Amino acid sequence: MSLDAQTLIWVLLLPVAALSGWMIGRRGAERRGGQRVSRLSSNYFRGLNFLLNEQPDKAIEVFLQIAEVDKDTVETHFALGNLFRRRGEVDRAIRIHQNLIERPRLSEEQRVQAVLELGEDFMRAGLLDRAEALFTDLGQFDQVAPKALRHLISIYQQERDWPKAIDHARRYEAATGETMGKLLAQFHCELAEAALGRKDRAAAVTHLRDAVEVDSHCARAGILEGRMALEEGDDGTAIRAFERVARHEVDYLPEVLQPLLDAWGRTGERVRARAFLADMVERSAGVSPMLALARLIQEDEGDAAAAGFLTRNLQRRPSVRGQNALIDLSLRRADEDPEETLRVVRQLSEQLVAGVAAYRCGHCGFGARAHHWQCPSCKRWGTVRPVHGAFGE
Ligand SMILES: [Zn+2]
Repeated sequence: MSLDAQTLIWVLLLPVAALSGWMIGRRGAERRGGQRVSRLSSNYFRGLNFLLNEQPDKAIEVFLQIAEVDKDTVETHFALGNLFRRRGEVDRAIRIHQNLIERPRLSEEQRVQAVLELGEDFMRAGLLDRAEALFTDLGQFDQVAPKALRHLISIYQQERDWPKAIDHARRYEAATGETMGKLLAQFHCELAEAALGRKDRAAAVTHLRDAVEVDSHCARAGILEGRMALEEGDDGTAIRAFERVARHEVDYLPEVLQPLLDAWGRTGERVRARAFLADMVERSAGVSPMLALARLIQEDEGDAAAAGFLTRNLQRRPSVRGQNALIDLSLRRADEDPEETLRVVRQLSEQLVAGVAAYRCGHCGFGARAHHWQCPSCKRWGTVRPVHGAFGE
């Protein structure tokens, strides 16, 4: 069940809980009212039951009946509005929430909640300016301010209004104490890229500094700084920026590897490049640093040394791209007997195939080495079949 449905069920259970409290209070005092209560709560449970069985059409029918009988049941209208919005019937949700807001006897808390719901209807309907106006008003009510701010941040992201997105993310931080550093850094980087687009380098530098201030390991800011340095012909700064990106988050290494190799090539920092790549080979699960280092070894020490390096590393971490590099090296080496390379490649293929599931359940996706009549994971019968493709049957 989705979180949304769970919240909805809680909303629906509230009046039931309130009414049962009322019943206990009234027990023995007045019998006539009790009947109305039990009728109402049995209808609630019918509606709930439909919801739990994911039959929203029938649930709506029941809740509409309740709303008809008892016009004061605010929670029923909230539940209905929610149901309509979830089903994409935004117009009906908007009407329900607008009617709620206009009720004179609504508590302040309920009215604020209804305005929040209406704002969410407008978001769903794509009426961003109207949603923005409501959420801006709601920002002053502590009970819903964080939610309203979250919606506003999302609206400004859709509108690509980064200064406003930044402003509201900061207010969200202040309201909740929750840090928004990574998100804020992305917004500052968007501003930096926009500044670069209109050739305003000074503004771009300021925005990048802001990004690093809120997220000191921001990879995107590092990559942008490196690219800007390259455009200015400043290889030293570019190398430092790109190396920092990869050290902080090794998964971004492939994004900066080629410009990094080019910059090292121009500055002639061979030793530094090899030491850095050797460090990355240890840290990265990917094959790129291994292949790059193999090329440097080949240039410095020759084909045999590069082949030896690749063979050692591929045995630890077999990969098809690594295997291809090994075959290429062997093809280049006229002096070499290809038998040794073939033996290594054969062994690597064995390792690669051994790591892959030969069978897979067509229902749940469970992978297995051997055939099972009953899937060990979802317990269905006859769904486990051989895998086809590069590594399969
Ligand atoms: Zn299964």
